[in-house]
Amino acid sequence: MFKAISRSKRIGILTVVLSMLMGVSCTVKDSTGIASSSGTSSSAATQASTSSEATTAASSSEPTPSPSPTPSPSPSPTDTPSPTPTPVPEYIEPIITGGAVWYDGYVDPRTVRAEIVSDPNNIAVLVNKYYAQPQSYVPELIYAKYSANQQLRPEAADAWEQLHDACMAEIGEDLYLISGYRSWETQTYSFNNAITRRGLDKTCCKNAYPGRSEHPLGLALDINIKSDPEIRDNFVYTKAGQWVLENGYKYGFIWRYPKDCGYITGYGVEGWHFRYVGIDVATEMHDNNIMTLEEYYGKPQVLPHNE
Ligand SMILES: [Zn+2]
Repeated sequence: MFKAISRSKRIGILTVVLSMLMGVSCTVKDSTGIASSSGTSSSAATQASTSSEATTAASSSEPTPSPSPTPSPSPSPTDTPSPTPTPVPEYIEPIITGGAVWYDGYVDPRTVRAEIVSDPNNIAVLVNKYYAQPQSYVPELIYAKYSANQQLRPEAADAWEQLHDACMAEIGEDLYLISGYRSWETQTYSFNNAITRRGLDKTCCKNAYPGRSEHPLGLALDINIKSDPEIRDNFVYTKAGQWVLENGYKYGFIWRYPKDCGYITGYGVEGWHFRYVGIDVATEMHDNNIMTLEEYYGKPQVLPHNE
């Protein structure tokens, strides 16, 4: 259990803890590394140039012709660029006030403030305990093949079909979509039901709060194989799961809640939950060994004061 401490102290300590933990497992996308040019050589070049001009001027004995006046150019009318409005983030305030409450490293989503994402239609949008979809958002949906009558966004449904067919062709495993799109209302029921069924601590580890779940985006897929259409922790370690893990990026999928990355994603390992982010982002993450979407965007969750 974490004691209540001041926000500034908490953030300071959290940053340290986060820095320590970042080195342990998941890789953070490096945004630095551009070498700056030398100021010394630039300065030397300027001096050399100045010196050369001075010498040329001193050696000239010809009178300098007075320059004929150049007509001042009349200003051409230019379109005044309209300023790009800076979007002002909107937030969902915590419904339980008094500061974030953590259970074994997983925060109760009802105790944190979440920024409402401005681009829920972006297939690579980051939604988690700190970034919420607008409540009114409902994506375009179609029924997905190889599923329990589940819906997905068309892009995700198409990619899922390709993933399924490639897996079948390569290793003969019949992938099956157990759960795709879930409405805000369904997610609300699921979260509240989980608290009753498994307790708040485990719910905060495994169940997404309404608005903070990827399922209402129509881009999340809970999968297994058709002969075992149940959510299984170990799916990712099965033959089919290993194939998806190795090849999913080619079709735009990532394993969303990998093992040992809960301190970054805010959720414990989910061996069945994959996310469609598009081939470009999935491939970039794969090629750079970036394990989580939070790291891809440089937005790992804020860690608690571990005391
Ligand atoms: Zn899921």
